[in-house]
Amino acid sequence: MEKTKYIWFNGKFLRWKQAKIHILTHALHYGSGVFEGIRCYKTQDGPAVFRLKEHIDRLFNSAKFLKIKIPFSKKEFQKSILELIKLNKIEECYIRPIVFYGYGKMGLNPKGASVDCAAILWPWGKYLKDKVKVKISKFIRLHPQSVVSSAKVCGYYVNSIFSTFDAEKDGFDESILLDYRGFVAEGPGENIFIVKNKKLLTPKLGSILPGITRDSIIKIAKDIKIEVIEKDISVKELKNCDEAFFTGTAAEITPIYQIDEKIINKGEIGEITKILQEKFYQIVHGEDKKYKKWLAYVK
Ligand code: PMP
Repeated sequence: MEKTKYIWFNGKFLRWKQAKIHILTHALHYGSGVFEGIRCYKTQDGPAVFRLKEHIDRLFNSAKFLKIKIPFSKKEFQKSILELIKLNKIEECYIRPIVFYGYGKMGLNPKGASVDCAAILWPWGKYLKDKVKVKISKFIRLHPQSVVSSAKVCGYYVNSIFSTFDAEKDGFDESILLDYRGFVAEGPGENIFIVKNKKLLTPKLGSILPGITRDSIIKIAKDIKIEVIEKDISVKELKNCDEAFFTGTAAEITPIYQIDEKIINKGEIGEITKILQEKFYQIVHGEDKKYKKWLAYVK
């Protein structure tokens, strides 16, 4: 992977190679950490982080469910990330804040383990292809009574890894996981939207991560008078859509051109998808004044 010079680790800026943890780190054994994925984009006024506040809010909220006490304030966390971008002299990157139970305790109750905090960043271009074919996974999303769905917990991602393997095995680019009732939930690291009769539909919250890109697309669509409906979506409805796309920090807006055997919109990127995708890229690059509040500039 592409390295950068510094990593922010427990309040210090360390050299990339020096940011190390013990083999008995609690989170390595039990997945007891929480993390974020954030992107920083190049703009006319220098690098800017997209919706930094919302990502840090979600990080702290995820930590709360795991009873992790973060020894920094939200403001300090945000400031450290902006400083890290500056120190690394990078214009565009993916940012990975992570907070986890560290060394000092084994056994499932992490009480007594240290809490470690880090932020790492590196250049990360396209996460998925320009458009993708997806398989409805044989694995289902974690039951909302098995986990706290709104938290972004490290351990949850083995579910995503299994479904990714399943899709890859059958020659697909990505998977779609259904929820425990058989309705459409989300991708392994993305939320999903479909377009039907010019309306935008997306699974309602419950079994999915409340994505910040999802929230952004809902707001952008409403602003340009596209009706948005958050509801249960069946597999039949999904496959009969006019357009489909994923949203996520890593995936940004990725059009879906095939779901299982079904080709969507003759395999082409849909009209509404294109409009939203263009708007999104304008916004993240600071080209739309109306949404400047979503950008934290690296000064
Ligand atoms: N669902 C899952 C399971 C994810 O991991 C992600 C990526 N964080 C998303 C949805 C999209 O969330 P966001 O738009 O906040 O990146």
